Amino acid sequence: MTADLRDLYQEVVVDHSRRPRNFGPLPDASHQAEGFNPLCGDRLNLYLKVVDGFIEDARFEGSGCAISMASASLMTEAMKGRRTTDAEALFSDFHAMLTGNPKTNPALGKLEVFAGVSEFPSRIKCATLAWHTLQAALHAEVQPVTTESIA
Ligand code: ZN
Repeated sequence: MTADLRDLYQEVVVDHSRRPRNFGPLPDASHQAEGFNPLCGDRLNLYLKVVDGFIEDARFEGSGCAISMASASLMTEAMKGRRTTDAEALFSDFHAMLTGNPKTNPALGKLEVFAGVSEFPSRIKCATLAWHTLQAALHAEVQPVTTESIA
């Protein structure tokens, strides 16, 4: 990871964890799921409004460490206006980057700031919690998800 990317990571994570975007309820949500990362205590509720296969709106509520909140903030930003099928593809790219394979991916755009998390395996679940919850919401699963059952 270059020094520039490391600085950007710090800046973006701090900014998004202090002022999370899309934070709050979504009264006309069509999909929702709850996520919990017991290793860190991160919790969130994710709400989606899906219309004709497109994610029109995405919001979340919850509490947790800076990485989990920044990840949820950036993930909801990245999802708006995206096809649900693209959302799944983006999650696999994001997960691959976090596990260092490949290290970066231009398709991820701003989400690339999380590349450095691959150096801290214990924080990967903090960064992926919002995404696992997204997947659960898209599949309209009613059971709360936990990062323990879905690595
Ligand atoms: Zn965490």
